[in-house]
Amino acid sequence: MNSPLWFDPSLCLIGGNWKPATSGKTLPLINPSDGSELCQIARGGEQDIDAVVKAARVASDGEWGRMTALERGRILTRLGQLVLERVDELAVLEAMDVGKPLTQARADAVALARYCEFYGGAADKVMGDTIPYLDGYTVYTLREPHGVTGHIVPWNYPMQIIGRSVGAALAMGNACVLKPAEEACLTALAFAHLAIDAGLPKGALNVVPGLGVEAGAALSSHPDVDHISFTGSVATGALVQQAAGRNVVPVTLELGGKSPQLVFDDADLDAALPFLVNAGIQNAGQTCSASSRILVQRGVYDEVRSRMAQAYAELTVGPARDDLRLGPLISERQKQIVTGFLDKGSDLSIAAQGEVVATAPDTGAYVRPTLFADVPADHTLARDEIFGPVQVLIPFDTEEQALNIANSTDYGLVASIWTRDGARQMRLAKQLRSGQVFINNYGAGGGVELPFGGVGKSGHGREKGFEALYGFSQLKTVAAYHG
Ligand code: NAD
Repeated sequence: MNSPLWFDPSLCLIGGNWKPATSGKTLPLINPSDGSELCQIARGGEQDIDAVVKAARVASDGEWGRMTALERGRILTRLGQLVLERVDELAVLEAMDVGKPLTQARADAVALARYCEFYGGAADKVMGDTIPYLDGYTVYTLREPHGVTGHIVPWNYPMQIIGRSVGAALAMGNACVLKPAEEACLTALAFAHLAIDAGLPKGALNVVPGLGVEAGAALSSHPDVDHISFTGSVATGALVQQAAGRNVVPVTLELGGKSPQLVFDDADLDAALPFLVNAGIQNAGQTCSASSRILVQRGVYDEVRSRMAQAYAELTVGPARDDLRLGPLISERQKQIVTGFLDKGSDLSIAAQGEVVATAPDTGAYVRPTLFADVPADHTLARDEIFGPVQVLIPFDTEEQALNIANSTDYGLVASIWTRDGARQMRLAKQLRSGQVFINNYGAGGGVELPFGGVGKSGHGREKGFEALYGFSQLKTVAAYHG
């Protein structure tokens, strides 16, 4: 891959102007495929966050805040078109930065365009209600933007998460401050350049790269931010919520999961098999909605185990540019975390492992995808989020047992049910403690239209779909007395 950097990655976008961090400091951005330095990015801090929040407030009170929903929608739609025109370049940036195989990175760029199209089309279709009330009153509701919204984004799906969070917030007329992850922020910067080209007014989108403990903490604790959207780890999410809570600022948290797939004896295994595996290894397992637990009824357990093992034995891992099924993990640190979990599974039986290709540089953050079999439901590998290409097979006998195991972790983001029994599908869809439930599929293609978010430690609030537009706005009730 030749360097596709068509912008200066060492700058912040502050009120429509590209500037270095006030401190003048930068951070190295590392290519996880080989450990090399890609470039330097700005190390934004408190002063930069303060400057962008002020710029966002000016935009919110000014041109951007006064713009009609129709015109906001047109700008977002134009932005989607620009993203589509640069899909291949964006894919290369993401592949270098995240270590994501090119095909997967390209799918993320297409999804980003789709978010812009969806929210561009939706901007002028969010309406209030009229409420029948006492004689002599007319009562109606208005949906209004929060004002300045903060968006703290992780490294695993930068483009998709920016699309669903910033896209929806802009559609509702908020002025956004985006803090991308220090491990991967190139597509956030590219997106901001395209947003300016699409005609987004100054200050409507601001970007400050930097460390979580510096720029991220400054954003989540800033007293003039009106809403925070955070995606990342439980520990950091709790810190963000505490910081925002001190200013009584609402927070949307999307924190990952331990999402199960329940495979019953009557399941169509030919249909299920590709989903069972892919949902665990996509983006090398670094997906909040990854399916890391496969619960299988005893009658088909041996068959599922042997077919998944066969699929795992064929998995290959290598540099993003090779576009294999798996790339490296995001960093050496993430590799240490995942390897630590593999060590904790030394008492378990490994059904199969994929291979790291011989040409993968030693300096890259590669791990072998690993399938564990016969895992007790209370084992740490069956309960904790690993965020790597590791899946566990857990046998069960009855529907009730499957439900209890599925609902037994702290998380509740996504679950899927594989069965031909319609009554069971309906029962479990209600009883599973999860933000999304899929019947005879997993992820439903990741549609931008589908509201997404968790229960329990998976977080709260919903992004994606129309639901996000409610989250990124507040409701005002107007009661007029006219006699
Ligand atoms: P993290 O939660 O620390 O980072 C996510 C974002 O939060 C980044 O932009 C980071 O700069 C920012 N941040 C970090 N500390 C902050 C603070 N004190 N205040 C405000 N913002 C802060 O995640 P990580 O360290 O990159 O990864 C650790 C673990 O998090 C992973 O192993 C995985 O389990 C989980 N994770 C989950 C998701 C998800 O999509 N749910 C995404 C990434 C990571």
